[in-house]
Parts: sequence; structure tokens; C-alpha cells
Amino acid sequence: MAIIEVAIPVPLHKTFDYQCNQKVVVGVRVKVPFTRKKVVGIVLTIKDKSNFKQLKSVEEVLDDKPILDKPILDFLFWSTKYYHHPIGEVISAALPKNLRLGKEAVIKKMADLPDKIQEPDFATTDEQNIAIEKILKSTHEYRGFLLHGITGSGKTEVYLRITQTMLDEGKQVLVLVPEIGLTPQMITRFESRLNTRIVAIHSQLNETQKLDAYLMAKNGKAGVVLGTRSAIFAPMPNLGLIIIDEEHDGSFKQQSSFRYSARDLCFIRAKQANIPLVLGTATPSLETLKNVIDKKITHLTLTKRAGDAVLPKVSLIDMQSNFTPQGGTEKSDNALSAVLIEKMRHYLAQEKQVMLFINRRGYAPVYFCKECGWKAQCTHCDSGMIYHRHINRLKCHHCGDEKMPAHTCPDCHQPSLEVFGYGTERLEETLSSYFSDVPIIRIDRDTTRRKKAFAEHLKQINSGKPCIIVGTQMLAKGHDFSNLAMVGVLDTDAGLLSLDFRATEHLAQLLIQVSGRAGRNAEQGEVVIQTRYPNHPIFNYVLSSRYIQFATELLKQRRSAKMPPFSHQALLCANAKNKQNAEDFLKKAGALLKNIQMDSVETWGPVANVIEKKSDYYYFNLYLQSTDRSALHQMLATFHQHINTIKPKSGVRWYLDVDPIE
Ligand code: ADP
Ligand code: ZN
Ligand code: ZN
Repeated sequence: MAIIEVAIPVPLHKTFDYQCNQKVVVGVRVKVPFTRKKVVGIVLTIKDKSNFKQLKSVEEVLDDKPILDKPILDFLFWSTKYYHHPIGEVISAALPKNLRLGKEAVIKKMADLPDKIQEPDFATTDEQNIAIEKILKSTHEYRGFLLHGITGSGKTEVYLRITQTMLDEGKQVLVLVPEIGLTPQMITRFESRLNTRIVAIHSQLNETQKLDAYLMAKNGKAGVVLGTRSAIFAPMPNLGLIIIDEEHDGSFKQQSSFRYSARDLCFIRAKQANIPLVLGTATPSLETLKNVIDKKITHLTLTKRAGDAVLPKVSLIDMQSNFTPQGGTEKSDNALSAVLIEKMRHYLAQEKQVMLFINRRGYAPVYFCKECGWKAQCTHCDSGMIYHRHINRLKCHHCGDEKMPAHTCPDCHQPSLEVFGYGTERLEETLSSYFSDVPIIRIDRDTTRRKKAFAEHLKQINSGKPCIIVGTQMLAKGHDFSNLAMVGVLDTDAGLLSLDFRATEHLAQLLIQVSGRAGRNAEQGEVVIQTRYPNHPIFNYVLSSRYIQFATELLKQRRSAKMPPFSHQALLCANAKNKQNAEDFLKKAGALLKNIQMDSVETWGPVANVIEKKSDYYYFNLYLQSTDRSALHQMLATFHQHINTIKPKSGVRWYLDVDPIE
């Protein structure tokens, strides 16, 4: 009779011992009694003694071979320690649902090997050659590379070539991308070029497909695993290379439950497997640039666009002076300047496509009374309600609540309600009054809710026929529209005025990414940015595509302010329906942290969240920051040991976010 230590998916920082009289190895799943239920857990150790008496018995051993092998278990242990998150929940995040539920670990449908693959009909450029050579030189050791190349410079081509070489050596390659559903082109390109099984791991698969993908990665049959952030946990026995595309993208950070950064975990996984890691982007994050400066990773650059493509011309439209019509016959309002409309006409007349970005869906962000100033607010959140015209509803984009708009003002009872501001829906409507004979394709979460809708829109755009594309930043990523001549960016100003210290970094990244969409073939494209703050320093850099110079400036500011990446942060967040209870919990937590006394760690708060109330819950934050990462983590570990001494009042939910990004 053995005693086994089992990880169970509960939010508790501990493991549980059971007796087991069946054959069992570390890493298999077991069904065990827990409270009054049966749950599926993972065997972490096998031992002959336990500190607990009267152990319950394992009900059933579900696997004969480990579901989680030692390398993955080590990786998960590291993650649980670093993020101070319970091991049971960390393991849950790493397993497909069907395995968590205890279903049999068998492949239903094995992916086919490709019939034939395409050979590229071009040679790699000198810059690509250098990048490929340097990466392939260290395939048998841990080394990080930043592959820094403007959009269209041939980064994906580099991924494909180094991946093929690794496959030829019998290795597997893990490729992480921000959002697969939005970049189906990436999968198609990998599939058409590589002679291996490629499995995709992302949220649009059904559970059977997810399990199959997981198991094909695990048995080594899949040469390439291409997935979104959770694919970082895919078991790959022959893992030889990790590629993370668009490394600066915020979606690599999980923002609920187990709050990990797949980008940061790539470093750990590559180190543990002793393999190279390639981070690709046109706009490196400040964290990654600092790694380059500290010589922790190697900087590889692709400075020219592949083929004949040239970078677009970027210009600003000053919305202060273009606010009112300036002569001419064109009518203008506050979303579209006359200059922008003129430029659109110019390109559309040449049978080209144009694209406009606006970062808000719905019709209008404000529904208000022009007599007394009343505004439609969500009753559950500290937030205005957004008017959606085609369904004639006011919607809260935080909690999803919706209601019919009233006809008269609830305060002054006048029929004086109006909308203010623009969302994609209203922009589409306004555009159709200017361009009645041009198709307008709107792409936002409302028009792509149906499963295939996004692909259908892409197909229409890829036909190359002239059209106006209106979209949110869903469109900024990775798409390659060959007949797109012009991109207009309508609302940069929110990013310039934001309180978030990362806002300008993200805005610069977005503007450069967006610019990358225009003119990807031989003709030069054009990018036009509307702003009320044309003198903001960010534009100096963005206009001339000097992202690195801008990022270097930002790094200087962060260094002198001791902000990340020059310091490390953690966030303790509490929320509750009772505002006082949430705040009180953090006050007690703050006192406990003060008691731990780490001079090098600063704490401040609790302070209310920027949006204090969401879905009837009040949110408060307590910040921890230190230039000494290990001191910060030691403090968090001690904090967890003593957390039981402060009992949160009932209804208080709290969590820790290590390296928060918002
Ligand atoms: P990125 O990933 O940096 O946006 P891609 O790898 O997608 O760039 O390359 C952009 C386009 O240029 C693609 O159509 C690709 O096939 C092509 N391309 C890449 N490298 C070369 C090359 N060396 N010569 C000619 N065309 C190339
Ligand atoms: Zn009113
Ligand atoms: Zn709400």
C-alpha cells in the first residue's frame, strides 16, 4: 500500500495525501474522494509516510502512463511558485478539459501528414540569413533572440525556415501567437510549407479537438504546436525551439484565475529544456528591449520589407483645426475630417481598399440629455452605457447589461436625448452617406460573433475589390491585405491621455502595427492619424517609424521613475459587493505586509480601481513594488504563510497578480 500526494483543482495552497493500493506512477490522474465529491487529481509524489492520519483511499487510477511528464511538472512547479498560485489550479490551466474531467486519454482523429508542401520560390535576404544562422547555431543550448523586424520584413519566413531545420533534426517546435482565430493565415502558411503534423491549440476548437491536439503534442506525432497563450503548457517530449510571435502583445497575459504571462514563461520553459527561444515583433516591449540592453538576449534585425514592398507614408491630421469644415464642398463632423475623406476618395477612385480604425464598438459611447446634462449610466458599474443602434439598446461593455433607451430624459422629462461620439456602427453609417456606392465592411466583436463571420469578412477583403474596412484593433494584427492602400486612425487621443503608465508604449505599438497594414506590395501605402494633440512627442517618432528611439526614451523615463521593467510589481486585488469589506480586507493585508518588513519592497494602497464598481462589485488594489525581485517574492511567500490570520468578511474575493500589466 503506497501513499500518494495529489494535486486537486481547488484554490488552496496545499496538496492532499491518499492511500493507494493500485499500481501508480507520478504524473497520472487519479479519481479521489474530496469533501463530498469525487474529483480528478494528479499524482505528484509517491511516499511511504504521511503527516496525516486516517487517509482516504484512491477510488481509481485513470492512466497507466503519466499525463504530465517530469519536465512539464517541473515547469508547473516553477510557475506555481513564481505566481504564488495553487498547484491544483496551475495544473488545471495546463490540461484540456476532457482530461480534467477524467475522460480517457486517447486520440479520436489523428491529423494527416500533408500530401505535398510548397517550396518557397525566393531566396532569403542577407538579413534573414544572418538571423537564421545565428539561431540555428545554438539549437542545443538555451539562448534568447529578439527577431525585430518591421511588418512584412520576413519574420514568418525566418520562423518557417528554422522550424523546418528543427523538424529535420527530429525536434518539435512550439509557436505561440496572440489570437489564432484572428490570424488563420498563420496556420495556413505553416501547413502549406512544413512537412509535419501541425496542431493548433486555441479556444475555437471543440473539446475533442483540444484533447486530440494535446495528445498529438504529447506523443511527439505533431511536429509543430501552434497556439495561443495556454499552449505554453503543451507537453512536447522532443521540444527543440520556442517561437513567440508579436511578443509585445498583451494577450499573452492571462487576466483571470491563474494570471500568468506566457511570454515570460517562455524563458523558463526554454531554460529548463535547454533550447533556443525566438521572440518576434516589429515593436518590442520595453521588457524585451531591456533584456537586449542587459545582454540577456541577442538582437536580430530585419530592417527592410521583403520583396519590393516599401514602408507607408505617415501623416497627421490636426483635429483642432479640421474640426469644422474648411471651405470646399465636403461636409465634416467630429469623426472624419474633410482631409481624410478626400484621401479616401482618391484611393477608392483608383480601385484600392481603405481601412479605418476606431477603438470602440457600438453606435455612440454617450447617450445624454442636451437640456440638463443627464447621461445614461450602467446601474451595476461606474461606466456610461454605449448606444447600439441596430438593436436600439443601451449596453454596458463592462457587465453586458442592456436596456431600451428612454424617449424622454428621466431627469428633466424633455424629449431632448441625443448621442455623442462615435463607435464603429455610427462610423459605418456616416461613411455610407459619403460613399454610397462602395461596400463597407465592419469588423468588430458585434459583427464577428458568429463562428465563421470573421473568415467571411476576410474572404471579401481578400478578393481585392475596392471597399472601406471599418474595424477595432481586432484588425491590427498580422493581416496581409494586398490591395489595401490607406489606413486611417481615428481615435488615438484616449491613449495619449490615459493614466496607465504603459499607455504610450501600447499606443506607439498599435500605431506601428496598424501602419504595417498599408501598402504591403510594391506601391507605397499611406497612413493618416487624426489627433487633437499633433505636438505630442509620440508622433515625432511614429511618423518616421522610429519605434526603437521612442522606446528608448520611454525606457529612460521608466528608469528614473523606477517603474517596470526597472522594478517588479505585484498587485493584491480584492472585490466585494460591500465596498467597506473589500477595502477593509486590503487594509488588513497591508498591515500584514508591513509586519513582514522588507525594506526594499514598497507598498501602497488600498486604492479604488480606476473603474471602482463593476457588475455590482467594488474593486480595490494594493500595490507592491521593488527593484529587488527576490525580495518581493520572499515577501509574497511569507504573506501567503500568514494569510490565514486575516479572515476576509464573507463575500470578499481576492487574488494576487504578479507582474500585472493593467
Ligand atoms: P512578417 O512576418 O515580418 O510580417 P513575412 O514573413 O510574412 O513578414 O513576409 C512578408 C511577405 O514577403 C510574405 O509574402 C513572404 O512570403 C515574402 N517574403 C519573405 N521573405 C522573402 C524573401 N526573402 N524574398 C521575397 N519575398 C519574401
Ligand atoms: Zn434632461
Ligand atoms: Zn455594467
